[in-house]
Amino acid sequence: MEKAYPPRPTWAEIDLAALDHNLRQAEKFCLPHQRVLAVVKADAYGHGAVPVTRRLQSAGVNDFGVATLEEALELRGAGIDDPILVFGGCHPGQESMFLQQRVMPVLLDLETALRLDAEARRQQTQIKVHLKVDSGMGRVGFLPAQLREFLPTLQQLKGVQIVGLMSHFACADELEKGVTTQQLERFRATRAMLREAGIVPADIHVSNSAGLTGWDGQEATLVRPGIMLYGGLPGPDFTDRLELKPVMHLRSCIAQLRKLPVGSGVSYGHNFIAARETTVAVLPIGYADGYNRLFSNCGQGILHGKKIPLIGRVCMDWIMFDVTDLPQARVGDCLTLLGSADGQTILGDDLAAQLETISYEVFCRIDKRVPRRYRQDSA
Ligand SMILES: *Cc1c(COP(=O)(O)O)cnc(C)c1O
Repeated sequence: MEKAYPPRPTWAEIDLAALDHNLRQAEKFCLPHQRVLAVVKADAYGHGAVPVTRRLQSAGVNDFGVATLEEALELRGAGIDDPILVFGGCHPGQESMFLQQRVMPVLLDLETALRLDAEARRQQTQIKVHLKVDSGMGRVGFLPAQLREFLPTLQQLKGVQIVGLMSHFACADELEKGVTTQQLERFRATRAMLREAGIVPADIHVSNSAGLTGWDGQEATLVRPGIMLYGGLPGPDFTDRLELKPVMHLRSCIAQLRKLPVGSGVSYGHNFIAARETTVAVLPIGYADGYNRLFSNCGQGILHGKKIPLIGRVCMDWIMFDVTDLPQARVGDCLTLLGSADGQTILGDDLAAQLETISYEVFCRIDKRVPRRYRQDSA
């Protein structure tokens, strides 16, 4: 909802042209018969599911993946009519909504198959599902041996139409291919077993961003990139293999600018003590916005083409920077905390390395309190 008054000057700029660019990078790894199923779960990794999905549709994508039914319903509610696959599957009680909204669950177990079948038959229709094989991720899905056992039952479920067969890699972000190769072998064997039983799903897919850049599986009809669409690397080894552009730029403007005398403490705990007369810029953003508290005394911001240091602890709603060496800094000047400005860049991967996490988490954690502003063309 558009507010009638100016919001506090902290926002995430979403560069949709960069999204297009990253999509083309993903498509470079696709064989001619392969489609991109764009992963837009977790509000498109914090970038905004509806605007991101719409932009990807204009760029030619017509298959989308989310984690939950609610995420799928948000897209349907916005008039997005393309096939949507829900990786998290169908939880008890959700069957009729999946059918009503024509959303496809990933089938993870036999019990769910039975529930979906019953509901579909009650409505005298069929539900399309993608069957998930746990080929070595050790998380969810049918183990190959289980599938062999359940196959006769699955075949009898006239309400359930298996239109996809999928698996997920555990170690595709590592260059060492042992585990991934083994997973592929298991997946292929499972596919052969299904084929013998007369189950031949139209769509076959295994690759996330990491898998897609390293595996040349002919049989896949879909690839499932997520993080790379948003400009994050699937792992540290991908720097040279992928040329991505950051999509999210987190910006906040200086709300106050003050000179503190030598010896002044800054923020909770006085973890920063001014060793010189220090000009402090205060920004209206904090850990409640998803700017991690671990950046206390070690964060960076881009201002007037320079990277400047964050000082003191990150508060819930405020952070402070030392701008003593930038006398041109003024109240209202905008700092970039993530993304690029004036030829300088702070990547999600840079912040992730500092936090000992992955860029996925950095993006996802940017809170709803931070408004997203969409830019159709790169600056
Ligand atoms: C999240 C997810 C993806 C996308 O993974 P990235 O590493 O972000 O490319 C693909 N497939 C499934 C099943 C997922 O849950």
